[in-house]
Order: sequence, then structure tokens, then C-alpha cells
Amino acid sequence: MTFKDVIVIGGGAAGFFAAINIAEQNPNLKVAILERSKEGLAKVKVSGGGRCNVTHAEFIPKELTQNYPRGEKELLGPFHQFMTGDTIEWFEKRGVELKIEDDGRMFPVSNSSQTIIDCFLHEAEKHRVEVLYSHIVKAINPQNQQFKIETSQGDFLTNKLLIATGSNPRIWNLLEHLGHTISQPVPSLFTFNIKDERIQDIPGVVAQDVEVKVLDTNLWSEGPLLITHWGMSAPCILKLSAFGALELAKRDYKFQIEINFIRQTFNDCLEVLKTLKQDLAKKTVFKSTQFDIPKRLWHKLVLASGMDIETRWADLNKEKLENLAGQLTQAVFKVDGKSTFKEEFVTAGGVNLKEIDFKTFESKRVKNLYFAGEVINVDAITGGFNFQNAWTGAYIAAKNIAQ
Ligand SMILES: Cc1cc2nc3c(=O)[nH]c(=O)nc-3n(C[C@H](O)[C@H](O)[C@H](O)COP(=O)(O)OP(=O)(O)OC[C@H]3O[C@@H](n4cnc5c(N)ncnc54)[C@H](O)[C@@H]3O)c2cc1C
Repeated sequence: MTFKDVIVIGGGAAGFFAAINIAEQNPNLKVAILERSKEGLAKVKVSGGGRCNVTHAEFIPKELTQNYPRGEKELLGPFHQFMTGDTIEWFEKRGVELKIEDDGRMFPVSNSSQTIIDCFLHEAEKHRVEVLYSHIVKAINPQNQQFKIETSQGDFLTNKLLIATGSNPRIWNLLEHLGHTISQPVPSLFTFNIKDERIQDIPGVVAQDVEVKVLDTNLWSEGPLLITHWGMSAPCILKLSAFGALELAKRDYKFQIEINFIRQTFNDCLEVLKTLKQDLAKKTVFKSTQFDIPKRLWHKLVLASGMDIETRWADLNKEKLENLAGQLTQAVFKVDGKSTFKEEFVTAGGVNLKEIDFKTFESKRVKNLYFAGEVINVDAITGGFNFQNAWTGAYIAAKNIAQ
């Protein structure tokens, strides 16, 4: 049996960040990471399309919390202790400069996730964190105020234990045996599968500012919408998938959405169309794109309104005008299934938030047991917020463990 003062299970984002901070803040502690894979940091490597969207340029804690469908309330306090600005400073102090993109996402200036990995590996070595790869944790047993941990490569004993195993069902099972409840895991951050003539053969078309509602629910969202080969994606859809993760799973990913492509009411749109009928009488509707919507999408919506490419504005009767206004402001699409958003995905679910003390990230059920990252029931929309949850939890847990 090998003794360590502190054991961190999981050599991912949260695990490395926590272990480095513990060892740096208290060099007297022997800190080890137990990582099941041969390398660790696998998700950091592929994150943000290989660029690692480290955090987001949102510096007001209350605003930042709005990006967490699960964890909004609980993360407010923690963000006052460590948030985006602290993340930027943490990396900067260690030689990693981050840059802000137009949409607020922050990446290493190198545009490579390897920069983050190199930073972690260097810092871990510098502060003598022992990283034990190919150590699969199989059991956790509290023993006289300590923890005995069984792994595929022998047993360990430790005073303080931090779990940073992400969305791992085996560890969630072990935590249930320790008295924790686990909110059922379901996918979050996915795109919608839609087969519909109106979006067929126009992949890559982006409507910049739309509003989308999921019918028969309170779910709605706004922002850019991207038409893909298999359906719809981009922030507007991803936000719905995150905030609706549980509701949409219950419906087995079969539901209807209503899209307002121009963000005007039906009646306002109809009035504009009536004016256009007068002003553009001799022109074809097909060729006179309106409302700043992409040309190829306009063509599809015009055809879906019962016109052909020769129809002139002057030919539009009341029914055709209403059809077009309907397609522009209340277009209903049937969603049948979901697809993975390759740049980022997470699991909603994990350790019940009521069972964690968010001042320290310590378990309320088991003393000296801490959590950080995706293992708890926190997840965010896309944009760097999921990593920010990992950094915040890991930093605060580390501070308390190191004391
Ligand atoms: C493709 C993709 C891209 C992403 N891009 C971004 C992005 O750009 N920005 C962003 O904010 N978020 C992104 N995310 C989400 C982000 O990666 C996660 O929220 C984050 O990695 C969670 O960190 P974690 O340390 O909790 O878990 P992980 O990073 O998943 O680490 C958990 C670690 O625990 C280890 N482990 C599990 N079980 C055991 C066991 N039994 N014994 C020992 N070790 C174990 C695993 O091998 C793993 O190394 C992305 C996710 C994916 C899948």
C-alpha cells in the first residue's frame, strides 16, 4: 500500500489544475494523480477543434452563471472566488497568453491545445506532482478518517481525496456507495437532425439572428443558426440542446421547433410584404431577397410558400402573402434525433449539487472528499464555460486541501 497526502483521481482538465495548485500552495504535501489512460488530458487535446477554448471573456459573475443550465445558482459564490479573469492571469503567469475572439471565446495565442497540455505537464513536474498513468481506480473505501483506493496497479492510502473523473459511470457508482446521489446523465450540446425540403441542399447557410422555440415547452433561444447537411446547428441550437437536455431526452429527441428567421411579428412582416407588393410589383419574389436573410434560404422559403420562381409580387394574393409571412416568422420544423457537435460536448448529470459545499467543493456527505469538473451536476453551453467550471472548482478545492 502506497501513502500520499493527497490523491486526485482523474488526470483531465480539473485533475491537473487541482493537483498543480495544491502542490504549489503547499509544497510539503505529497500529491499524486491517478489516471486510467496512458496519457491523460485527452479532452483538452481535442477541445475547441484542437485549439482549446480555455474560457470566455465574461467578467461579471452573475452574467457568467447564466451560461450554466445546471449550476447557475451554485456557481455564483465560487465565481466570486475564482473566475475568468483569474484563469487568464493563472495561465499568463505561467507563460500562456490567451486571446479573445469576436464572440468572446478565449484561446491560447498559439491556437493549439498542446500549449495548455505542455503548461500543465511542466507545472506538474515543477511542483513534484506525481502523475500515475494506467492506474484505473476500481474502489474507494473510507478507512479511519482516510481513504483506501484500489487501482489496477495496487492500493493507495490518502488523507484527502479529490475526484475529477469527468462523466465516468464507474466512479459515479462508487460515489453512490459512499452515500452520494447521482443525477442521471444525459447528453448536452448536440445539433438537431431535420429532414426538410426547406433546408435541403443548402448546408453552410447561416441566418445571423433568429429566434427558435421548442413547441409545447418553455424552451426558446436566439442567435445565429447554421444549416448543416443533416439539420441545424450553431449557438442558437446548441443553447437549446443544453438548456433542454433533460426535456429533449425525455422526448427521445423527437419534437417540433418554430423558427422566426427575421425576428419580427407575423403581422409586422405581413405589413412589410404588402408594401413590397406595391413597390416591387413587376419583380419576381424569388429574386428579390428581403429582410437580410441569406439568398438561398429566401429561395427555399419562397418556394415553400406555394410560389414558383416566376411569381411576381403583383401576383401575390392574401393567402400567398400570409404563407410567406408564416415561413419567415413561424416556420415549423420536425426534429428527429440529434448529432454530436464535434467542437465540444458534455454530459448533463453527476453528483447532486445539494451534497456539495460550494465554499470548498468538499462533499457534505464524506469529510475530506472533494470534487471538481464535470463529475458534479454542472454543465454549460458552448464557449469555454465548461472548462471554466473545471478551473473554478479545481482551484477552490485545491486551496482548501492545501491549507
Ligand atoms: C470534443 C470535445 C471538445 C470540447 N471542447 C471544449 C472547449 O473548447 N471548451 C470548454 O470549455 N469545454 C470543452 N469541452 C468540455 C470539456 O472538455 C469538459 O467539460 C472538461 O474536460 C471536464 O474536465 P474534467 O477534468 O472534469 O473531466 P475530463 O477532462 O473528462 O477528465 C477526466 C479524467 O478522469 C479519468 N478517469 C475517468 N475514470 C477514471 C478511473 N476510474 N480511474 C482513473 N482515472 C479515471 C479520465 O481518463 C480523464 O482523463 C469539450 C468536450 C469534448 C468532448
